[in-house]
Amino acid sequence: MGERKKQADSEVEHCVICGKPTEYREDTPIDKRECYVEGAGQLCRKCYFEIYIKSGNEGTS
Ligand SMILES: [Zn+2]
Repeated sequence: MGERKKQADSEVEHCVICGKPTEYREDTPIDKRECYVEGAGQLCRKCYFEIYIKSGNEGTS
């Protein structure tokens, strides 16, 4: 008795790249998330930016 379960921690999605907790919960619909990559998973904003925006190779010269 008296044990506190860390619900909030266990439900938070972690970045698949760096492992840091993101602002999204596991029950957040994917279409409501930003920085979610199909086939990969949830990324934090930093990793998403680094990988998909900063180094984006869509027409950058
Ligand atoms: Zn990350």
